[in-house]
Amino acid sequence: MDMIPYGRQDLSEEDIQAVVEILRADYITQGPAVPAFEESVAGYCGARHSVATNSATSALHLSCLALDVGPGDIVWTSPITFVASANCALYCGASIDFVDIDPLSCNMSTTRLEEKLEAAARTGKLPKVVIPVHLAGQSCDMAKIHELGRIYGFRIIEDASHAIGGKYRNEPVGNCRYSDITIFSFHPVKIVTTGEGGMALTNDPDLARALRLRRSHGITSDREEMSPRPCDEIWNYQQIDLGFNYRMTDIAAALGTSQMKRLEEFVARRNEIARFYDGALRNLPIVTQWLHPDCHSSHHLYLIRPKLQEIGKTHREIYQALHAEGILVNLHYIPVYLQPYFEKMGFSRGHCPEAERYYGEVLSIPMYYGLTRDQQEQVVAALQKVIGR
Ligand SMILES: *Cc1c(COP(=O)(O)O)cnc(C)c1O
Repeated sequence: MDMIPYGRQDLSEEDIQAVVEILRADYITQGPAVPAFEESVAGYCGARHSVATNSATSALHLSCLALDVGPGDIVWTSPITFVASANCALYCGASIDFVDIDPLSCNMSTTRLEEKLEAAARTGKLPKVVIPVHLAGQSCDMAKIHELGRIYGFRIIEDASHAIGGKYRNEPVGNCRYSDITIFSFHPVKIVTTGEGGMALTNDPDLARALRLRRSHGITSDREEMSPRPCDEIWNYQQIDLGFNYRMTDIAAALGTSQMKRLEEFVARRNEIARFYDGALRNLPIVTQWLHPDCHSSHHLYLIRPKLQEIGKTHREIYQALHAEGILVNLHYIPVYLQPYFEKMGFSRGHCPEAERYYGEVLSIPMYYGLTRDQQEQVVAALQKVIGR
């Protein structure tokens, strides 16, 4: 049987040739391919600065450090995300909390955010940083979150791991109009891939410098940043802070630059598939993600929420029946605070009721560039069989 995954990369012959060229070049890392990739993404998004990393997770960590997140600080994110959106705060010794989702868009609810901020202002426990996550490729209500940031004094990191190529109010996600930093992931299931890889974008030159410094051990070779020394030194660099090796290789960056040329085509195809599903699934007892007219989703995922009572099957039964049909649906995501590691920190059921309801129903059906019309029809037929009336 033909197994259809929920997502996968698409590599063209040109993408492969771009990597082969680097393998034959002088530099396979720390050469010109990384800055070229950084420029291509920043240029596309309309951000002033971009810092490529070896994953979105390291870009999130660097972003928290650049915003001076440390022990005693509080960071808030959405419970419906990959664990990395929360772990980045913990790496810095800060504490993490979660703002419940909006049941329609499935993104962080700005109503819940505002209520939680009002309460936190009374107890003196306001967050230093809020990390909205653009679930499935749809931007959060960034104008509102930005306005709340000004009122309550928090900084904003957009976790746009799903959302490169998406738009908010007719502008590309990643331009940082409403945030301090935006991060992207280039993992193979995401829209554009470099194998492993990530990027942080910002319009603030000081943040860009802080991101770059800690991406590479806290080492600088900029004379202005170095301490003066008593005699002439042979060493042309100094470590001036504690950093990491979070660099992207030129091999990965060459693939990224080549993939960026196909971004619009990737997102157009994903939207085409989404329109097909919208039409074909219209009469099934499911709820799909509501898309705000301010947003153009890049459709990293296509989320469905089967109406379990009406169907008379459990979430697990539907998941297993679809797998038996060769449709490898997935679940994005379990509320992060229900992970055992977070439960040990004191989180428990009931913390974000909408997120928990969502988790009890949601499935991601296959959505990727190379998904053929035949396969899309196979997905629809399986859904009709498993949850149709
Ligand atoms: C994939 C993902 C990440 C982590 O990306 P990596 O590049 O694998 O580190 C972070 N946040 C979200 C929302 C993601 O989907």
